[in-house]
Formats: sequence, structure tokens, C-alpha cells
Amino acid sequence: MNTTLTEYVKKSDNIINKIFNVGIGMNKSDIKDIVSELYTDIKLIQSVSRRLADVANACKDFLPNTDINEITNIDPMPDKDDHVISRTMINENNKNLVDEIEVPVITVESEVMVPVSNIYYIRDINQYAVNIQGTLIKGGLLDIKHKPQINSRRCHKKDTCINLKNNTCEFYHPSTDYITNGLNIPSKTRVLSPASWVYCKKNKKYTRKIGGVSTITNDIKSLTKNSYTEELHNRESQLIHDILVYQILHKNKLLPNYEYW
Ligand SMILES: [Zn+2]
Repeated sequence: MNTTLTEYVKKSDNIINKIFNVGIGMNKSDIKDIVSELYTDIKLIQSVSRRLADVANACKDFLPNTDINEITNIDPMPDKDDHVISRTMINENNKNLVDEIEVPVITVESEVMVPVSNIYYIRDINQYAVNIQGTLIKGGLLDIKHKPQINSRRCHKKDTCINLKNNTCEFYHPSTDYITNGLNIPSKTRVLSPASWVYCKKNKKYTRKIGGVSTITNDIKSLTKNSYTEELHNRESQLIHDILVYQILHKNKLLPNYEYW
């Protein structure tokens, strides 16, 4: 049991990269070996997880009755959506971006050392994604309208929203909210306002609330909890949208096609 959790994540990343590169040309018995090795790893990790859960649950016996009720029984098995966060951040290096705010990065000496990152299309949720430092960032192309009323701001009730089932919620729900409720994902495009790309320090509706390097620390401090999560969700949608638009422009090399430009 000397493999670290980070090494397991790296190992699975390497396997999936190999499968994607070699594809159906891969030797069947090699694939069987990989599946059986991964199964052994999974069982080992689950047994560690169970041990930790047993100890955590046993510790609760030493709490007064009033406190025990606040902590539910700890389940060693992951929830359906835990894969997003269980891909732990690979802390090769932290880079101090501004003030005391650090982000994990991998430092390389020159640009040729940066590996190719793919953008993935996830069929079952009909979304595009990149995984940056263990965080899966998902979204698709957005619709952009002035003062959007419907399917724009994220529904704060998330997967507990009662209007999800009859498809009458006017707020935006990510695909996972539908999946959690066993519902089909409607083919709705998220709508954002053009203002949501514009920075406004006064926290106006629809605008970005975090600006450049000179204001970022104070901007973050001035956010409410709701503004913080809204900023996070909007940036996620905008980031994937921008990557997809970039890909369209780059891939099509449109400039020579429109000579009147
Ligand atoms: Zn809702």
C-alpha cells in the first residue's frame, strides 16, 4: 500500500490517455489486464475508505447524544457526483498569483514542454469539458441576449427544485440536476447577458464582479456568498463557451474566407 492517491489518479489518467491514443488497435488481453488491475486498485481503495468510515463512525460514540444527531452515518462509498472532486489537485507547485492567493500549477522551462490538452464532449450530459488541475469544468455554447429572463441565472435550489420535474423552472439548471432526479436532460441552451462579460465594481446584476489584478483581492472580499457562487458558475459557462468559440475561429481560419474584411 505504498501508492499515493495522487499516483492512482495519475495512473488512471495515463491509462485513459493511452486508450484514447491507441484506440481499438489496443491488444484485447492488455485491456483485460488493465481492467483487472484497476479492479484490484478500486477494491484496495474501497477497503481503506471503509476503514476510515468505520473509525469515524466509532468516534461518534464518544460524542454527547445532542451532537451525534447532527452528524449522519458516514458512508464509505462515493456519491454519484463525487468523481468530480475525488480527482484530487495535483499540487506539483503553487504559484502566487496575487497577494496571498495561490493556485496549483506545473512549472515548465519552455512552451514546448506544455502537453496537448483536449476538450472533451461528454455524451450523457451533452456538454463539453476540460479538466484543469483536477477540476472538471463543463459547459457548452451559450446564447447571449440583452436582459435575459429565462434560463440565465443558476437556480439556487439546485437538484431539489420542485419545478424541475415539470420543466417549468425559469432559472438555469446544469445537466447534473436533471440526472440526479432521473429526468431527461432538456435541450435548452443557457442564456447569458452581454453584460456578464463586463466588469462592474458595484456588483450590478449580470455583470462580472471580479476584475483585474489591481482590484481582485478587494473584489473577492466584497462578494456575498451568493455572488461568489454565481461568479464561479458564470465563469465556468463563459470559459467553455469562449474555448469553443476560439476553437471554431481557429479551426476554420475564417479570415481568408472573408476577403472584404
Ligand atoms: Zn429551479
